[in-house]
Amino acid sequence: MNTIKEQILKLKSDKNAVILAHFYQTMDIQEIADIVGDSFELAKRAKASDADILIVCGVRFMAESAKILNPDKKVLLPVLDAGCPMADMVTPEDVRALRAEYPEAAVVCYINSSAAVKAECDICCTSSSAERIVRSLSQKQIIFVPDQNLGAYTASKVPEKEFILFKGFCPVHHRIEADDAIKAKAANPEAELLVHPECTPEVLKYADLIGSTSQILDHAIKSESKAFIIGTENGVTERLQALYPDKAFYPLASEFICPDMKKTALSDVLRSLENETNEIIMTAEEIAGAGKSLERMVAVG
Ligand code: SF4
Repeated sequence: MNTIKEQILKLKSDKNAVILAHFYQTMDIQEIADIVGDSFELAKRAKASDADILIVCGVRFMAESAKILNPDKKVLLPVLDAGCPMADMVTPEDVRALRAEYPEAAVVCYINSSAAVKAECDICCTSSSAERIVRSLSQKQIIFVPDQNLGAYTASKVPEKEFILFKGFCPVHHRIEADDAIKAKAANPEAELLVHPECTPEVLKYADLIGSTSQILDHAIKSESKAFIIGTENGVTERLQALYPDKAFYPLASEFICPDMKKTALSDVLRSLENETNEIIMTAEEIAGAGKSLERMVAVG
């Protein structure tokens, strides 16, 4: 009897499917994935793929983005209720109300948002592209949804623009406190502290590098340092430790875990792929609505 991993790999090849996994997935899932990346990487790679089926091991907005960029492909989300609490904090009505209040502003939405919210915005961004995206816009006023922390960090990089920040946040990153950074640095004084901009400005103050998950991984790989404190979800810490056993990687805080990202198990991937269930279904109107802000993001790069 084949192991569950072997069954998935065989089915994947028989059905011309690819598995896209976010860095926050468990190592089990990362190990069977064709592509492991952050939200931007997964969206780009999904667009470039010639597979018939895309299995997105992540949360709903990632699977929606894959579907929007590949309307003709079958996109499966192995666990349908894997969502993102930050994405759920902002609604299309919230965006419309902000637009009415600030009619001159451009609306930038973090990719961690629903398709319905993306459809109300001018352009999407990721944590690695937010500064570049904002600079590409002619408007001086920027409405930024939903993450207040990424918005505030981007605002600090582009002081010539005026930001109106929606007050959403990632519960996993937002709960980390300055005290966690102080303690982690005291316990590992030789380590560089690498922090995701979804953390609060009070925590970012202590960072040696502020960056997206991909930027954190790149830096840890290229840096001469031998030890790092990782200020994002534990999937990144575990991946780095598995890939670079000669370096030391410490989590910034205990329980730095996104419960939604950890919902996907190998058995869910197998079931979904076998029966082609948990497909993301979107109307042409929904795809077209959200597609323009995602395509604009991809075009800026
Ligand atoms: S880590 Fe935060 S932003 Fe990412 S999926 Fe989980 S809740 Fe959403």
